[in-house]
Amino acid sequence: MSTTVGVLGLQGGVSEHVELLDSLGVRTCLLRSPSDLLGADGLRVDAVVLPGGESSVIDRLLRTFGLFDPLRAAIGAGLPTLGTCAGLILLADKVLDPAPGQQSLAVLDATVRRNAFGSQVDSAEVDLETSDGPVKVAFIRAPQVVATGPAVAVIARRGEAIVGVRQGAITGLAFHPEVTGEARFHRRLIADAGATALAEAG
Ligand code: GLN
Repeated sequence: MSTTVGVLGLQGGVSEHVELLDSLGVRTCLLRSPSDLLGADGLRVDAVVLPGGESSVIDRLLRTFGLFDPLRAAIGAGLPTLGTCAGLILLADKVLDPAPGQQSLAVLDATVRRNAFGSQVDSAEVDLETSDGPVKVAFIRAPQVVATGPAVAVIARRGEAIVGVRQGAITGLAFHPEVTGEARFHRRLIADAGATALAEAG
């Protein structure tokens, strides 16, 4: 059975993730309603991507379309997940400088500060060392991780700032690998999806 990755398709940079995943040979589907995620026999996807965009808008749409609770439960139960930028904010336990009423899925034991690197004009393509190797990625009104719990590994820093974390099968990145075509985090997500499927079958 081939791997299917669901890309949250409510707002933001959805198509870049779909194109990158297509190029890696996996099936993708857009998640816009609970039935895109959950069928009668259980989960319809082997992994999910939460794209960048505006985290407060995505949060509101998640709740409007009834996806907030099922997505939170699925990720909490171990569904491999990659969140980029606003996606990282959605994953985090605690969000500093939130929009009024903004909530997060709170599945990642980390605190993030929104817009920590300045405004849109400070957006940049940056070379980073990560624990997965060197990458060139884009920062766009990026958050920063300011605190992590004991189960969270730091996988990337920009200077002193923590910009990539991993907790089990959840990876949160403050930056956009999909904008520069950097595929290693998506490859890792697909590998995690395969490992979870094998464990379930075995
Ligand atoms: N600043 C945005 C937010 O708070 C995130 C920016 C992005 O995803 N590129 O949601």
